[in-house]
Amino acid sequence: MEIEKIKLKTPFENPDYVYVYVVDSEVMIDGGFCSVEHAARLEEHDVEYRVVTHHHIDHVGIIFFSERDVMLHPSEVNYLEIYSNPEKFIKSYSRLFRSFGVSERYVETLKVLTAMNLKPKARIVEVRDVKGLKVVETPGHTSGHVSMLAENCLFSGDFMLSNTTPNIGFYPDYTTGVSDYLESLHKILKLEVDTVYPAHEKVIRNPEKRAHELIDHCINRAKETYEAVESQPTKLEDVAAKITWSIGSYWDLDDFNRFMAICETLAFLHYLEEKGKIRRKIVDDTVQFILR
Ligand SMILES: [Zn+2]
Ligand SMILES: [Zn+2]
Repeated sequence: MEIEKIKLKTPFENPDYVYVYVVDSEVMIDGGFCSVEHAARLEEHDVEYRVVTHHHIDHVGIIFFSERDVMLHPSEVNYLEIYSNPEKFIKSYSRLFRSFGVSERYVETLKVLTAMNLKPKARIVEVRDVKGLKVVETPGHTSGHVSMLAENCLFSGDFMLSNTTPNIGFYPDYTTGVSDYLESLHKILKLEVDTVYPAHEKVIRNPEKRAHELIDHCINRAKETYEAVESQPTKLEDVAAKITWSIGSYWDLDDFNRFMAICETLAFLHYLEEKGKIRRKIVDDTVQFILR
């Protein structure tokens, strides 16, 4: 199998680069950042199939700026609307945040997407096995995230990264990110994978070790979240403030990062609810959490 790696600079500090892989000159995995430049660079490769692992902005360039068919998991398709109609997402997140007594100001940081007003140019088709590459569903980071497997090599999108722990997805209509992510990692441990080619950071030569590290991280964060909930009703933001965030303490974060931290906290609280460890209690019209 011949693997070509295309390195593209993103406009962000982190992740600073995104990698697109072309396998045997026939299958392209991921679609670059949402920009004309990235799509044009990728158009130079005349491939038969294009797979996009998930709907995030640093992966979907060819969907919005190129006319050729793109394969995507059906669960990801609805989320593409965030680029043409962000108001819809802002509204449902705001309603949710309000119910927990958390400022809607954090959600409003999503308004930066309004100026993009992008509609897919490509025809979206359901992702399937192609040319010896098998689809492996790896949800958790997003609800329909896929990886592609061929000859013990896994093209992992954002599901597995070498240094960073991928963010667990949380949307008003997708709340099972933590259990999905843990299941996806256990699934990979059962497959024969020697090398992981992620969309950011370095190639992973010891996937088993990395999968265990990521599982441990999730378990520890679930434990930390559990310890942040008290025997009295605890507010969502007070739980978030007790969690150790790699970018600093919760109350020092800017509004966008508070938005991300609240979403991840909610994902872990949902996981603890699923496990029967905590429950909700309404206090003064706001939803709070309490130990079971
Ligand atoms: Zn992502
Ligand atoms: Zn990414």
